[in-house]
Amino acid sequence: MEPPGTAGAPGAAGRPWDEAKAFYDNLTPKKKPKSPKPENAITIAVSSRALFRMEEEQKIYNEQGVEAYVKYQLDHENEPFLPGAAFPFVKALEAVNTQLRELYPDSEELFDIVLMTNNHAQVGVRLINSINHYDLFIERFCMTGGNSPIGYLKAYHTNLYLSSDAEKVSGAIEEGIAAATIFSPSKDLEVSEKQLRVAFDGDAVLFSDESEQIVKAHENNPLAQGPLKGFLEALGKLQKKFYSKGLRMECPIRTYLVTARSAASSGARALKTLRSWGLETDEALFLAGAPKGPLLKKIRPHIFFDDQMFHVEGAKEMGTVAAHVPYGVAQKHKRPLQEKQPQNSK
Ligand SMILES: [Mg+2]
Repeated sequence: MEPPGTAGAPGAAGRPWDEAKAFYDNLTPKKKPKSPKPENAITIAVSSRALFRMEEEQKIYNEQGVEAYVKYQLDHENEPFLPGAAFPFVKALEAVNTQLRELYPDSEELFDIVLMTNNHAQVGVRLINSINHYDLFIERFCMTGGNSPIGYLKAYHTNLYLSSDAEKVSGAIEEGIAAATIFSPSKDLEVSEKQLRVAFDGDAVLFSDESEQIVKAHENNPLAQGPLKGFLEALGKLQKKFYSKGLRMECPIRTYLVTARSAASSGARALKTLRSWGLETDEALFLAGAPKGPLLKKIRPHIFFDDQMFHVEGAKEMGTVAAHVPYGVAQKHKRPLQEKQPQNSK
């Protein structure tokens, strides 16, 4: 006698488990495809404090020490963390991945998110619970155990590292890794769930900081590359995969250059530099010294990168998730600004 359900199934005779497997495979949501190899992927490393809000826990750590901190985390293990500054960005990366997987089922050219944490291993359970709670596709965990993340970032071929620890970010930048210190906005602005929007400052972010040192330069003389040029390049590579399927207008990745330069005086040099690299941004906004916050509020990027804390603060105040790139001459002035943020001191 054949088991019920397999009788008469064409081709299933002798191999009923195939049919059963297919049945259960269809029951299991297909949301957990395998992770791409790091050398093929666009790897985004995010610290646990950037991905989730952990201010409360950090306070316990600072005031009561590591034992009280670990105990608190264990006691709250089944309580997911609230989304942090990098959370909407990570969600948007995953939305892009979903579309890439539909268009190119066999390609590993996808975003791959690595969670970097120097947390106690016991806290890892709460992190994993939180990741599952929000249905995030994060398979790679890197528990650095208090060590510098640099070696791990290199091993994972990291294209972008986001952390709330300014010291670690500076270390990564010095090693030539695109990195930024991410800040939560003062208020929450709704961002697109379908389209990833990334806004870049020009000087000392996409370009080197030379223009901030040398006032006059010929517009046909391209600028040297800055720390985030490689990330824009990676985004451009993925954008082209949509363009080649005829999806230029519907592309789920949109990039913006938001610079204090003025179009008339030095904007052409910025655009020509991008062109000389074979890169472009979808939009280029030359503010000629006007504040960036109001414009960013209109663009609603998931993340905005700038090397000057002044612009980062302006963006934050108006609800944009802003990330500070500690690079170039502007950093000489950073000390008084950092003193305003005691929560960042360890
Ligand atoms: Mg700049």
